[in-house]
Amino acid sequence: MPKILVLPGDGIGPEIVPEAVKVLEKVAPKYGLELEFQEGLIGGAAIDKVGKSLPEETLEASRASDAVLLGAVGGPKWDTLPASERPEVAALLPLRKGLGLYANIRPCLLYSALADSSTLKKEVVEGTDLVVIRELTGGLYFGKKSRETYTFSSGDKTESAERAIDTLVYTTPEIKRILALAFDLAKKRSGKVTSVDKANVLESSRLWRETADKMIEEYPEINLEHIYVDNCAMQLVRNPKQFDVIVTENTFGDILSDQASMLSGSIGMLPSASVGGEVALYEPSHGSAPDIAGKDLANPIATILSVAMMLEITFDLPDAAQSIRKAVGDVLEAGYRTGDIMSPGCRQVGTVEMGALIRERL
Ligand code: NAD
Repeated sequence: MPKILVLPGDGIGPEIVPEAVKVLEKVAPKYGLELEFQEGLIGGAAIDKVGKSLPEETLEASRASDAVLLGAVGGPKWDTLPASERPEVAALLPLRKGLGLYANIRPCLLYSALADSSTLKKEVVEGTDLVVIRELTGGLYFGKKSRETYTFSSGDKTESAERAIDTLVYTTPEIKRILALAFDLAKKRSGKVTSVDKANVLESSRLWRETADKMIEEYPEINLEHIYVDNCAMQLVRNPKQFDVIVTENTFGDILSDQASMLSGSIGMLPSASVGGEVALYEPSHGSAPDIAGKDLANPIATILSVAMMLEITFDLPDAAQSIRKAVGDVLEAGYRTGDIMSPGCRQVGTVEMGALIRERL
């Protein structure tokens, strides 16, 4: 029986994750999938219990599962720890690395019922349906870093100061595998891929662009365009409907995917999947939201849509995934909203009720 490792984590994690698990429990059997769930410790909750934010047992259980469902980690209680011990760093990065997850997929779909919830004009965002694919284990975040003291002359004095260095490295195999993933995903959508880089300035971007141009010969059905990252940031808010699949470097993707999140009305609506290894990791795009934790205020939809991605990607059940997306759409059409997407004339519900309403419609 396929195994799902469930890692609720911190803050709102233990509130939103059970709602998504119950959705899986309801949908999977209808599509002939029986699942076994196992719960594990991660983040601040794991520090409090066993002194480590990514216990060895959690990493082992992740490797032994068919998919991992994560809530979120971190919060003020652990913010005073040294940077390298904080859950966001000490749990998430080694988990992604340990599972070999080199691609983060973030779909950004605006439900029409939420067209008024975006900070952008309705006519700009209505119909937005794009995916950002971010390279996750290379680039600027993973390059060699250093700090050093250096001396320089100013006038007749010699002074010393500090210098910090980050490096951005990509190899062709790293670029090829993320682009191949983007091209394959685009084949199931409109076929359009926008590769985002800064090839007018960065050598790594020039290699990225050259690699894409060579690869595209093997993908005649793909319509590839290149765009500079600064222009992409502008185009995302000017006319997001021009995009379908966006693929980019780690840091560019981190920033652009957060920017794109606001097109869907709230970060509480955005799911994600990290893939590339044998086991994929599914989690909402947001963090642990300590400001609303424990108050039944969190929007569980991002996590529920993350299990829809799990059914599609890990278990190859696109119809099951679609049934979840439709149930979410129906609940929103019926006027139910959590606080983050609340509009005049709608009915505000809590985390638990929103989960129950979605399951009722499945
Ligand atoms: P956040 O995403 O947790 O919250 C940002 C804002 O969005 C807050 O106002 C929050 O209330 C709101 N929000 C987030 N998710 C929501 C939901 N489902 N429903 C309704 N509102 C929601 O980001 P932050 O405040 O910068 O970070 C809080 C903690 O989470 C920090 O410790 C941070 O390091 C951590 N974090 C973890 C992850 C992760 O586990 N993947 C990602 C980002 C941040």
